[in-house]
Amino acid sequence: MISFWERVSLLQADVVIVGAGITGLSVAASLKEKQPSLRILVLERSVLPYGASTRNAGFACFGSLSEIASDIDGMGEEAARDLLFERWMGLQITRKRLTDKAIGYEDAGGFELVTEAQRSAMERLEQVNRLVDDFLPGYISDVSTLKKDMGLHAEGNLFSMAQEGQVHTGELMASLESYVASLGIIVRTGAEVLHVASDKVEVRDSQRGSFEVRAGKVVVCTNAFARDLIQAEVEPGRGQVFITKPIRGLKFKGNLHVDEGFYYLRNVGDRILFGGARNQFFEQERTHNFNVTDEVQLHLELELKRLFGPDLAWEVDQRWSGIMAFGKQKLPIVQRLDNGVFVALKMSGMGIALAGFIGEEVAEMIN
Ligand SMILES: Cc1cc2nc3c(=O)[nH]c(=O)nc-3n(C[C@H](O)[C@H](O)[C@H](O)COP(=O)(O)OP(=O)(O)OC[C@H]3O[C@@H](n4cnc5c(N)ncnc54)[C@H](O)[C@@H]3O)c2cc1C
Repeated sequence: MISFWERVSLLQADVVIVGAGITGLSVAASLKEKQPSLRILVLERSVLPYGASTRNAGFACFGSLSEIASDIDGMGEEAARDLLFERWMGLQITRKRLTDKAIGYEDAGGFELVTEAQRSAMERLEQVNRLVDDFLPGYISDVSTLKKDMGLHAEGNLFSMAQEGQVHTGELMASLESYVASLGIIVRTGAEVLHVASDKVEVRDSQRGSFEVRAGKVVVCTNAFARDLIQAEVEPGRGQVFITKPIRGLKFKGNLHVDEGFYYLRNVGDRILFGGARNQFFEQERTHNFNVTDEVQLHLELELKRLFGPDLAWEVDQRWSGIMAFGKQKLPIVQRLDNGVFVALKMSGMGIALAGFIGEEVAEMIN
């Protein structure tokens, strides 16, 4: 049961945001920066965010050659360019807001291994570079001569993406939490939202059962879990990863995209973090379940051996997964629904760069 004091002072806000992942917190930050007097309450079901934001690979990236070529085919040049621009701009916002030091940003370099089977993507190099020339000049170049120095063993041409970097995912989320707290935004964890309307949400906690929080506006930022609360064209996609123990003599530094980004690999100091393979197990990975599976993990191990060859000795240290949100096309969903609830969803596996931009977009919409 709720007390009078709780009802009048603690359980109402001008804006209630559901979900404390990178999107929810970026929306909160942008709103408060623009309207400092707003009372903003973020409700998160778990003690730590439990979706993708604390479980990802930390690529601060915009898109690789084969991925952009496929996006141009799927959504046209204009939409593909808009999405790249949104990611690029979003990353500038987050870096400026939190500082590179706080998020562990490193200008580590992004690379893509493109095989002969993807020759048609290689032939699009000029088209892709032209598309983004005003904000990412000289974006992609062929750096295949570097392959050997990086210890890469697998077949294919190596392309580099200018301005791609890495973040320390844990430090990014910790600094974003501290930043929103410093602005006076309240984040309540262990608060599962059961129902949303334009002016209130129903919340459940393990001690009190369910109760109501009044809201001037409600923004749903629950990404892959959005369909529990609203109707949206969003499908879950599990991403499984592992990180190795420190590897003696590891030459590779930076991010590596393989197969249109379905596989992603980076160094974390002298370890390798490797994940993906969703395209090999589409049905099985369309799930909200956070387990890891033997099939995908074994597949990833074999793929890592293929990429670096038999001479690189490594051992897996830890495995985990996170849940991303996808739809028929890749553009995020940022809108006010017919019932008056706002949504910012579907980061299509690239929310790190995008979230800063989405925050601004929602804040403009709510102004
Ligand atoms: C393995 C993996 C690797 C990735 N690598 C990269 C990468 O290198 N670069 C990149 O840009 N992106 C990457 N991503 C994608 C990126 O992590 C996501 O796009 C981004 O984190 C999405 O943020 P979000 O805040 O929208 O969603 P989430 O982080 O999923 O946050 C949603 C939050 O809503 C909460 N929630 C859900 N339902 C409720 C409810 N009913 N009530 C209250 N709270 C609720 C959840 O607990 C969760 O904390 C990766 C993702 C995974 C899984």
